[in-house]
Amino acid sequence: MCKNEIPYKIYLSEKELPIAWYNVRAEMKNKPAPLLNPETHKQIGLNELSQIFCEELAKQELNDTDKWIEIPEDIRKFYKMFRPSPLIRAYCLEEQLGTPAKIYYKFEGNNTSGSHKLNSAIAQAYYAKKQGLKGVTTETGAGQWGTALSMACAYFGLDCRVFMVKCSYEQKPFRREVMRTYGASVTPSPSDTTKVGRKILERFPGTSGSLGCAISEAVEAALSEDGYRYVLGSVLSQVLIHQTVIGLEAMTALDKYGVNPDIIIGCAGGGSNLGGLISPFMGRKLRGEADYRFIAVEPASCPSFTRGKFAYDYCDTGHVTPLAKMYTLGSNFIPSANHSGGLRYHGMSSILSQLYDDKLIEARSVTQTEVFEAARQFARIEGILPAPESSHAIRAAIDEALKCKKTGEEKTILFGLTGTGYFDMAAYQAFNDGKMRDYVPSEADLKNGFDGIPHFPGNDF
Ligand SMILES: *Cc1c(COP(=O)(O)O)cnc(C)c1O
Repeated sequence: MCKNEIPYKIYLSEKELPIAWYNVRAEMKNKPAPLLNPETHKQIGLNELSQIFCEELAKQELNDTDKWIEIPEDIRKFYKMFRPSPLIRAYCLEEQLGTPAKIYYKFEGNNTSGSHKLNSAIAQAYYAKKQGLKGVTTETGAGQWGTALSMACAYFGLDCRVFMVKCSYEQKPFRREVMRTYGASVTPSPSDTTKVGRKILERFPGTSGSLGCAISEAVEAALSEDGYRYVLGSVLSQVLIHQTVIGLEAMTALDKYGVNPDIIIGCAGGGSNLGGLISPFMGRKLRGEADYRFIAVEPASCPSFTRGKFAYDYCDTGHVTPLAKMYTLGSNFIPSANHSGGLRYHGMSSILSQLYDDKLIEARSVTQTEVFEAARQFARIEGILPAPESSHAIRAAIDEALKCKKTGEEKTILFGLTGTGYFDMAAYQAFNDGKMRDYVPSEADLKNGFDGIPHFPGNDF
């Protein structure tokens, strides 16, 4: 047996649950670029944004000044069902790797939805309810966000309409059924229930769908019915703000035991878990109080940070959402169909994009077989079956720990374990059967996506 000394599993008490989210933008010297209207290219204000999003969430989206945003009591009550989440020292993994590094992970998979997404879902449902709305619309890819949102909507008695990327709808029937059990309606996207869905179906008959396309449908559905707003599970600054409960709890737990991380690692899809984990630590770095290495890990088949352009781009295929300045592969980019590791979004949080451009965070990409090897190793020695998305962070944490083994450095590594892999067994099956293939897009593949990024004065890339 591997050793397990104190601190092994750090559970904070309910009283230590954060009372406010942290907004790192307030401390960034270079703020993320503002959202633009996709037609006029003018900056979007609160009124315009409030037509798509709940008003309070639109305010959070535009808030560049308040460092702290109080967490309403009803949200804290819901958080207490599954938070604070544990911070765990990976003693067994360390021992197996033979590394002098100390590895900690913050586990967000201890709730029915199975991932960190519930942290933002409950906040978004709360503000929708408070505004007196009837319901919300959204998209979901692998299904984690739709599941989290359906749980949150059930709690507050809101109608929840989910557009689910068609290939996931077909491949992940159990995710779909969880959502329906919690009362959501689930439509495979692209669908013929929206104008934009019909247009996409006409242009690309037989398409298996994409997140960008499901977003367009969900936005249209929200705009075309009174009492509905659109909500999103990643990419937006409001989502990243809600996810800072992860980083704040991790910081409290580590501070309590006098542990100071050197390297902080997270997987990056749209950037919300990574941003939520690192934000409070980034605050310390920006104030000159401490230094950390931050590493974003993304799939080689969807490499927004490592091979994307830093430009204003559409957030969706149908070009109905605001333009955001971010690292992007272009809104037409769709990762290879055999990619099963998640993190498929073409763009990246504009907060993280700015921090990356300012060289305050690093990024790397990894192939999916490397990711599943790390997932298998972690599952066998640490017991938790990780989500494929989370396993990108595991891969990088193992690689950093192995570097320490070579150099003898006793670094402390913290990574975000964002969720469980129970609903990803088809991907594990492909891996276990030796049928998983890596796919890295060629320059020509990427060029197709880049060609879809809009050109207008000031948008040079
Ligand atoms: C959605 C998801 C991610 C990626 O989303 P981010 O916004 O980049 O955090 C990572 N892990 C899991 C388990 C997810 O469900």
